[in-house]
Amino acid sequence: MKIAFCCTDTRPEPWLEGLKAELPDAEIAVWQPDAARTPTAAGLPAQPRAASSFQADYAVVWAPPQTFIDEQTQLKALFNIGAGVDALLKLRLPPSTLVVRLDDAGMAVQMAEYVCHAVIRYFRELADYDVAQQEARWAYRKPRRRQQFSVGVLGLGVLGSRVAQALQQFEFPVNGWSRSPKALPGVRAYTGQEELPAFLNASQVLVNLLPLTPHTENLLNRQTLSQLPAGGYVINVARGAHLVEEDLLALLDSGHLAGATLDVFRTEPLPPQHPFWKHPRITVTPHTSARTMRDETIAQIAGKIRALRAGQPIAGVVDPQRGY
Ligand code: NAP
Repeated sequence: MKIAFCCTDTRPEPWLEGLKAELPDAEIAVWQPDAARTPTAAGLPAQPRAASSFQADYAVVWAPPQTFIDEQTQLKALFNIGAGVDALLKLRLPPSTLVVRLDDAGMAVQMAEYVCHAVIRYFRELADYDVAQQEARWAYRKPRRRQQFSVGVLGLGVLGSRVAQALQQFEFPVNGWSRSPKALPGVRAYTGQEELPAFLNASQVLVNLLPLTPHTENLLNRQTLSQLPAGGYVINVARGAHLVEEDLLALLDSGHLAGATLDVFRTEPLPPQHPFWKHPRITVTPHTSARTMRDETIAQIAGKIRALRAGQPIAGVVDPQRGY
């Protein structure tokens, strides 16, 4: 069995070591752009194995170039080392190759802690206490009523359902929105476009955990965000292209929205001159709400490769038509 590793901006060595330890019979190679074409100073091929002569059965990928897909003609499955496959699905992929996303592998708990932290920060008005401390001012704020601080989670998949569950630990009322009907304990579930307005009206805080697809791109816009109650908050931890940035700024500046916590952006890294950085009611983090955990990811991918080789079904197979 051969495995190709093609992850931009990722140091390959620890991944290769980990995969080798899990799958000792595997031959594993790092795919390099121009491997076959770039000679070394000694005039020898730069890589021991040119990617085109190494035809892998499986690939572990993050943001692979189209040339990688075009060269690897025998792939049975592509394992994406993240949950979002929007970038991968933009490539021309052979229809017979399975696209497999990471499911959880240590990301759900991180997402739950990030979102709970942001919600609690708003609910307890902690930013105001930060300001009061700067001014050495001992100033209580009137407690808010939890029952009037509903949190709406867009997307009730692997991450959204974990976030919905975690928020309930703090007794926030939780709404959820998905494409197909869901029954999650304690979550008021809304389904499909027709129930989106009611979901938005009922959600003081909007948490976005949708995949980026043609149906969800630009979903957070002036029209939808205006349907949140006055003084609402937005937490975007899914993809930057879900949000129409000017519309968010207009609604914050008009006072309809009270704040936004943004982890993902249309352009990443967020350019230094971008208005989000300095906006008093926007919190920016650098796409870090749920990071890929290497050991958990390797164990999950190796387990799925073993299952596929044994002819067993696996979780996390993406439907390219659906886009997630
Ligand atoms: P998932 O398991 O595929 O869940 C997606 C959820 O969205 C499902 O509940 C699905 O509904 C719902 N959905 C999809 N299209 C919809 C539509 N058109 N209308 C209504 N609901 C729709 O995905 P996940 O693992 O939870 O991850 C969600 C996203 O988080 C990823 O795609 C990625 O973009 C993002 N993410 C961000 C970070 C970060 O660090 N910021 C890290 C990991 C992931 P059904 O249940 O009915 O199918």
